[in-house]
Amino acid sequence: MAMAQTHPFRVRKLRQLWRLVRESNAQPLLGEAHLPPAVHATDTAVTFIGHSSFLIQTAGRAVLIDPVFTTRLVVLRRQRRPGLVIGDLPPIDAVLLTHAHMDHLNRSSLRAITLEMRRRKLPAPAVIVPNNVDDLVSGLGFAEIRSLGWWDSTELAARRGTQDTPLRISATPARHWGARLFRDTHRGFGGYVLQSAGSPAIYHSGDTAYFNGFAEIGRRLQPDIALLPIGAYFPDSYRAVHTSPEEALQGFLDLGASLMIPMHYNTFRLGREPMHEPLPRLLHAAGSAKISDRVKPLAEGRSWIASEAGHAELQQHRPSRSARPLHPAATSVKVNPPRSIIAPTPHSAPLDHRADAPFSRLSERWRSPAH
Ligand SMILES: [Zn+2]
Ligand SMILES: [Zn+2]
Repeated sequence: MAMAQTHPFRVRKLRQLWRLVRESNAQPLLGEAHLPPAVHATDTAVTFIGHSSFLIQTAGRAVLIDPVFTTRLVVLRRQRRPGLVIGDLPPIDAVLLTHAHMDHLNRSSLRAITLEMRRRKLPAPAVIVPNNVDDLVSGLGFAEIRSLGWWDSTELAARRGTQDTPLRISATPARHWGARLFRDTHRGFGGYVLQSAGSPAIYHSGDTAYFNGFAEIGRRLQPDIALLPIGAYFPDSYRAVHTSPEEALQGFLDLGASLMIPMHYNTFRLGREPMHEPLPRLLHAAGSAKISDRVKPLAEGRSWIASEAGHAELQQHRPSRSARPLHPAATSVKVNPPRSIIAPTPHSAPLDHRADAPFSRLSERWRSPAH
């Protein structure tokens, strides 16, 4: 008890973690792996591996973002299998890591990826990390480590004698934090935009709360496809560092992208919301905003593929930049999730559970930083 008084915060956190660990082991592991798509050099494929892990094939290159293939994050067990297995991956040119959190930077997965490339006698991939994360990925078999600060960019050059076009990778800001443990708060964090002439630009936000950076990223880098997180938003205090489904949708609108692929849900128990809640809430909000056709959830191991023709079509669907809202209030997402998916939380109902509360009003309150 004396300890609880001295460190009430730490004790509460440990209790929360223990509950998540216990619950994570309660259900059988679900889902199955698939083969990655065979993609022509001029096509783009976005394959969801699970949680925030993606395989992106574009501009003749194959890039992994935040690849996590392990069944456990230390003690927390995943709920669904990764949708791809490492032995089936195409030759990987680069691995992009958004930040050092355990559910995004998994050293054993990274080592297994470079070992697999070496086993096949393929060149070792490069790894791209935020500033001050390089020490966590050195010695894992990467050909080189490139560190980027917000808005910095780097290029995977076109290989001689191929149809590749250069692939530009820009680091984007986020509202989150970078410490892997407690004290290493010097570590960077953020997201990435991948751009190549003739291919859709792809944005992976990493982990982030809702912030006005979405609009700025949209203005500066003009992503076509946005991979945005929709889980770990409850209790409400979590929204200082994570988006709720409705906030992610608002971020998508702020970005002015054509297509949203949700992530950061269903795989690891990180928030206290029910595991099955984020996706129906997102789809409901998208329906209310009449943009259901622009939200494309992918099952693990499934891909969204655009040929060159598909890319032209995607650009047609893009909202005109001049018509894009500069402020979230200009386009509000109606928030009214169906009752059936609302978990009763008598003492602290999340703000966005209130029926018919306009998003813009709520987002004003959410934007005040809680830390
Ligand atoms: Zn995360
Ligand atoms: Zn994180």
